[in-house]
Amino acid sequence: MRFKKEIIDASKYLLQLQFNIGSEGNISYRQKNEIYITPSGIKTSNLKPKDISKVDLNGKVLNKNKPSSEILLHSWIYRNHKDIRAVVHSHSKWASILSCMRISIPSFHYMVAEFGGNDIKCSKYATFGSDKLSKYVNKVLHKRKGCLIANHGQVTIGDNLEEAVDLSIALEKLSEQFYYLLITKQTKLLSNGEMRKIVKLFEDYKAKH
Ligand code: 13P
Ligand code: ZN
Repeated sequence: MRFKKEIIDASKYLLQLQFNIGSEGNISYRQKNEIYITPSGIKTSNLKPKDISKVDLNGKVLNKNKPSSEILLHSWIYRNHKDIRAVVHSHSKWASILSCMRISIPSFHYMVAEFGGNDIKCSKYATFGSDKLSKYVNKVLHKRKGCLIANHGQVTIGDNLEEAVDLSIALEKLSEQFYYLLITKQTKLLSNGEMRKIVKLFEDYKAKH
């Protein structure tokens, strides 16, 4: 299956970018009512298409591979965002640093609007893999394509794997930029009206591509 290889290629790409080390992070792809997700605890460098786990939209395992410990988070996202086809979770450096401060990223740069609104929120803290974590993350992902996960990392979602991966790189870049701005205390934010305008412009821009 083409998308099993695409999940592995995307995982190895994020490993190469040092967004994750070893078996950190997880990626899934939805095909109709089935979710294909990276397995739990296997080093990304060793991943093969046959290791990919298959689950239904409620997280019930449909093959022999143990799914990622974040399967509840992924399946809950697909149930809440009917059009979404891909979920990417990573422990990238700058997003993780901001997530440990438990601060949301405000409208400091117009590219924040790429995530669907005037901010990119940080969730409340809960243990990795827990039901509570799924609940907290899904709350801050409402009307957004990405968020920070408290004391943990980041998650992004997309209409396809490429979009979810690109957004994870974009979120990492915005996190680094905002970290430095926090130090300067000089940031001028864009207004809510301007951000609404840019969200709309992005919708038209993406429709053309
Ligand atoms: P898995 O190996 O179970 O996917 O866990 C990695 C992770 O990042 C948990 O949050
Ligand atoms: Zn994680």
